[in-house]
Amino acid sequence: MKKNHIAVWENCLKIIKDNVHYQSFKTWFEPINPVKLENNVLTIQVPSQFFYEWLEEHYINLLKKTIKKELGMEGRLEYSIIMDNTFDDKSPYTINVPTANKKAIKNPSVTMPIDLNKGQSKDIPNPFIIPGLKKLKVQSQLVDSYSFENFIEGDCNRLARSAGYAVSENPGKTAFNPLLIYSDVGLGKTHLAHAIGIQAKNNFPDITVLYVSTEQFIAQYIESVRNNNQNDFVHFYQMIDLLIVDDIQFLSGKEKTQDVFFHIFNHLHQKGKQIVITSDKPPVEMKGMEPRLLSRFKWGLAADLQVPDLETRIAILQKRLYSDGIEMPKDVVEYLAYSITTNIRELEGALISILAQSSLNKKPITIELAKQMIDKFVKNTTREISIDYIQKVVCDYFDLPLDVINSKTRKREIVQARQLSMYFAKKHTKASLATIGLHCGNKDHATVLHACRTVNNLIDTDKQFRSYVEELDKKIKL
Ligand code: ADP
Ligand code: MG
Repeated sequence: MKKNHIAVWENCLKIIKDNVHYQSFKTWFEPINPVKLENNVLTIQVPSQFFYEWLEEHYINLLKKTIKKELGMEGRLEYSIIMDNTFDDKSPYTINVPTANKKAIKNPSVTMPIDLNKGQSKDIPNPFIIPGLKKLKVQSQLVDSYSFENFIEGDCNRLARSAGYAVSENPGKTAFNPLLIYSDVGLGKTHLAHAIGIQAKNNFPDITVLYVSTEQFIAQYIESVRNNNQNDFVHFYQMIDLLIVDDIQFLSGKEKTQDVFFHIFNHLHQKGKQIVITSDKPPVEMKGMEPRLLSRFKWGLAADLQVPDLETRIAILQKRLYSDGIEMPKDVVEYLAYSITTNIRELEGALISILAQSSLNKKPITIELAKQMIDKFVKNTTREISIDYIQKVVCDYFDLPLDVINSKTRKREIVQARQLSMYFAKKHTKASLATIGLHCGNKDHATVLHACRTVNNLIDTDKQFRSYVEELDKKIKL
């Protein structure tokens, strides 16, 4: 009859109950969940690292005897440890820690990320050594939808994307180690980092891939210091074959954590393991990082993600709509892609808002709806009126070529266009008078001040001029 993990564990519990105090049984054995039974290996889930260590320290003999009684001489026990539940993350890590019997030890040089010498009496073989074939199981924390498949290629990301792809085909074996991906927010670093992990796992199912945000890494480290098990922390990371650390800039100023990361980095790199890092800046511009760590970051390849061009933005939206099975008029998609230029996350945010608006209010998705929404969306977020933009609106309005603003001409209409540009720049941007002057024909701040006064005077005295200004103001704010 095929044995089932629940029944086997129930039988084990009966034996254990007879051999430990009632309170100990309640504390250390009741919380355990049997997870599975495969090839005579019973996997039990324990709530924490500490819990696991306690069991191994105090009950190893009892557990071994019990398992042998239930599963025979070949019987073994594996732990699945819920690594940490103090993070806000929904999915805690679990690692499986096999306990081997003497015969099963084939590869004694590989050790687990656990303090091996704790509480072992001499005649018991070290139970934490992984038998040859067994591999540390780590939950990779990869998000399926962040795949290469869903990552649109464009001029803006070609280098980073293909380097990432090469890494996933050959982790640790390319010159791109570490691979550092950097960009401003919302341009796809996290997505690409996951894609590398997913693809590498597809190519090499046996490798251990871990995605970790730098915040998580720091929190884990702090926790390990608190629990006085930094070694476990370091060992755990040193077991990873492909380590992806997102937003490394958060290590800035954190010397201790940098130090630990430095050692993990070196260990992995030396062993030919792959490291992928993302950051909001290239290494040369990173602040608050130890020079020796920075110099490591420069060993491999640093590739950036740039703002996508219009075609790429449209393709990203279309891909998104397609995979969600939603239809949207083409002109609306284009309008969105045209209006939101600097941040893909905001672009997707706008798309979702429009979909929500239309389904909540039962309105069709039209360009008008998109416009209303973009007005709200874009004004609150990215759009800043620039001096260049003001000059363009003013020149368009008076039908003048843009470069006249910076020319030396003193023709009346051009002087006026220049003065209006200065006036609106003062009104709508945070630029100083000096900066405005510099950008409007290389003038000094006094000239800008004079221009503003002149425009104000004309508004008060000249009706025609005032209507120009009002119309222009509307166009600039549009
Ligand atoms: P970052 O980490 O740089 O702040 P993310 O990776 O979180 O940016 O990307 C923001 C959003 O934009 C995500 O939803 C991501 O899927 C999407 N995105 C970014 N780049 C692309 C791309 N090239 N193709 C498709 N979607 C993308
Ligand atoms: Mg990110």
